Amino acid sequence: MPQWPHQSEVDVFFGNPRGRDGAASAAWERANIARIQAPWPLVTSWDGASVGGISIHRKCSESLLRVLNAIWDAAGQDVRKIREWGMHFYGGGYNFRLMRGSNRLSMHSWGCAIDFDPAHNTFGDTTPNFANYPEVLKAFADEQWTWGGNWTKPDGMHWQAADL
Ligand SMILES: [Zn+2]
Repeated sequence: MPQWPHQSEVDVFFGNPRGRDGAASAAWERANIARIQAPWPLVTSWDGASVGGISIHRKCSESLLRVLNAIWDAAGQDVRKIREWGMHFYGGGYNFRLMRGSNRLSMHSWGCAIDFDPAHNTFGDTTPNFANYPEVLKAFADEQWTWGGNWTKPDGMHWQAADL
């Protein structure tokens, strides 16, 4: 069972992704970010282009693969079911950026967060579409990933390998 750090301890657990002048550290990215493949075809949520791979921290990449494989099995390995759930819409993994409405770094900056289907699970939506699919929620919960969908400011597209 994976144990993820508290949000305040991600620098210790995942390393410091900050480079110079507020930019990302290319050296840290090379050393820490892995590229994995989902068991089904992914497209970007913004323009439908096919996605070559998911960029995620190597410390949680194997866990994320287990999550995706569990979802694939729960869907009966049927890509139509995956599309019904919206899990084919990739919203981003590693991405060095600030949190919405804040000057703090997003968990995506450490490569320990991933978004799916932002169009139907928008930031602030108290009824995110993923709430309808317990199979998806369970697969992430079984690997101790935190879902943003029931936060005070809901972020239903978002899962992270870090505790609040
Ligand atoms: Zn996110």
